[in-house]
Amino acid sequence: DLVPLRRALLSVSDKTGLAELGQALATRGVELLSTGGTAKALREAGLSVKDVSEVTGFPEMMDGRVKTLHPVVHGGLLALRDNDEHVAAMDTHGIGAIDLVVVNLYPFEATVARGAGYTEAIENIDIGGPAMIRSAAKNHGFVTVVTDVEDYEPLLEELDRHDGHTGYALRQRLAQTAYARTAAYDTAVSSWMAGETGPTPRRRAFAGTLAQELRYGENPHQQASFYRDGSARPGVATAKQHQGKELSYNNINDTDAAFELVSSFDPADGPACAIIKHANPCGVARGATLKEAYTRAFDCDRTSAFGGIIALNQPLDADTAAEIAGIFTEVVIAPGADEGAMRVFSQKKNLRLLTTDGLADPHAAGIAVRQVSGGYLVQDKDVGSITEHDLKVVTKRAPTEQEMADMLFAWTVAKHVKSNAIIYVRDGATVGVGAGQMSRVDSTRIAARKAQDMAEAMGLDAPLTKGSVVASDAFFPFADGLVTAAEAGATALIQPGGSMRDDEVIAAADEAGLAMVFTGMRHFRH
Ligand code: 5GP
Repeated sequence: DLVPLRRALLSVSDKTGLAELGQALATRGVELLSTGGTAKALREAGLSVKDVSEVTGFPEMMDGRVKTLHPVVHGGLLALRDNDEHVAAMDTHGIGAIDLVVVNLYPFEATVARGAGYTEAIENIDIGGPAMIRSAAKNHGFVTVVTDVEDYEPLLEELDRHDGHTGYALRQRLAQTAYARTAAYDTAVSSWMAGETGPTPRRRAFAGTLAQELRYGENPHQQASFYRDGSARPGVATAKQHQGKELSYNNINDTDAAFELVSSFDPADGPACAIIKHANPCGVARGATLKEAYTRAFDCDRTSAFGGIIALNQPLDADTAAEIAGIFTEVVIAPGADEGAMRVFSQKKNLRLLTTDGLADPHAAGIAVRQVSGGYLVQDKDVGSITEHDLKVVTKRAPTEQEMADMLFAWTVAKHVKSNAIIYVRDGATVGVGAGQMSRVDSTRIAARKAQDMAEAMGLDAPLTKGSVVASDAFFPFADGLVTAAEAGATALIQPGGSMRDDEVIAAADEAGLAMVFTGMRHFRH
C-alpha cells in the first residue's frame, strides 16, 4: 500500500509553513505545481514551481473563481493508477498524475466573523479548493490530501519513514480529515446563509437527510424537523412505523432513550422492558415473559408510566400487547411484532407501533454532539461498561449473588438516567428512580418516596425498596445519601467511589450492614 510521491499541487490561502513544506518536498525530489499566490510565495522562498495555468493551458480567470477546475487537474487526482483504461485516458489526454494535494480554503469563516458584507462573503466561498480536496480524498488509495497545516510534519515524517512513499493508513486518515473539513466549510456557508435568509424558514436545511417535518419542537411555538445521518443501525431513525399518528419531537427523543436503554439488556438473558417519560426511565424490568417484564416495569411508577414510551428487547407478542393496551401509551418500539400483537394494537388507533431490525449495539462506538452557543461539544458516546470482575468490594460484608445481579442491573439502568441518578432495584426490576436532581441526596429521597407512594397505591405492607439494591451514577460526596437509601430498606449499593469522603461513606455502609462495591467508572448524563 506504499505509493511514491512524485508530484504535488499546493494551493493555500493560509501560507503558514508553506515555504518550509515546499522546501522539504523539493528536497525529496517532488515536483511542485501551484496556483497564483501560492506559486508566488514559493518562488519568493527560492523554490522552482510550475503554474497550474501552464499545465491546464488556461489562465486563472473570473477573479480566481476558475483556477484549478480542469480535467488535467482532476484527471490527475482521480485516475486509478492500477486501472488500464484510466491510465490510457491519462496518456491520450496528456494528464500527469498528481500524488499530493495541499489545500486550505478561502477563509470564509474568518471573513464572515469579521462582519464582511454579503458580496465579500460570497466571493470567499472557495469552489476549486473543496473540489480538489474531495477528488484527492476519494482517490486516497493513491493520493494524499493535506488540509491542515498541522499535518505537514506528519506527512514529511511518513515520507522519511518510507523513502518518499506514503502508506495507506496515513492517506486514509487524511482523507477522513479532508471530508470533515469540506463538510464543516459548507456547514459554515449554510449557517451564515440561514442567518441572512431571515426568520427561520419552515424547511431549514441542515446536515443530514430530512426525514420528517415535525408539527413542532419541544413546545408548540418551536418549529422542528427530524434528520437522518445515514446510519443503518437499528434505532428510532430507521424503525418502521406501523400505525398511529406521526411521531412528535418529544416522542422521537423519548423513543430513542427507551430503545437505547432496552438494547443494553441482551435478549439471551431473557425479556426486558423499559418505560420512558421525558427521556428518563420510570420503570425497567426483566421478567420470565415479555408481559411480565412490562408489568414489573409498570409497577415501578404507574403514575408516570401513563402516556409513556415503551421499549422491548424482544418482538412484541399478543399477550404483552393486550397488557400494554390497558393504559394510554404514546409509543411502543420493539425488534418486531407478531400478527397477534398487530391485531391487538389495530384497535388502538392512536398508539404508535415501531419495529426495528434487531437491537442497538450498546458497545458500538460513535460520537455524541451537543450544541452550545457559538459551538459544538463533541465526545465519544458513553459505551463504558463493567463486569462483576471490575467491582471492588469496600465493605465488611460482600454482596450476595442476588444483590450482585441486581446491582449490575441497576448500574446498567443508571447510565441512562439523567444525573444525579439513583436507582433502586429488586429482583431484576427498578422499584425507585431518582433522576435529574441537583443534589444526590434529593435523588435518593425522591426515589424512596415514590416507592412508598407505589406501595400505598398497590396496598403493600412495605415499599418495594425494602430489600433492594441501589446504584448511583457518580460517587456519594457525603454519607447522607447512603443513609437515606439504607433507611428505605436498601441492603447493597453500587457506585463509582472516588470521593474525598469515601472513608466516611464506607463506615456508614458498614454501620448499616450494607454491602457496597465500587465500579471505578461513572456515568454522568446531562
Ligand atoms: P492562491 O493564493 O494560490 O492564488 O490561491 C489559493 C486558494 O485558491 C486556495 O484557498 C484554494 O483552495 C483556492 N482555489 C484553488 N483553485 C480554485 C478554483 O478553481 N476556484 C476557486 N474559487 N478557488 C480555488
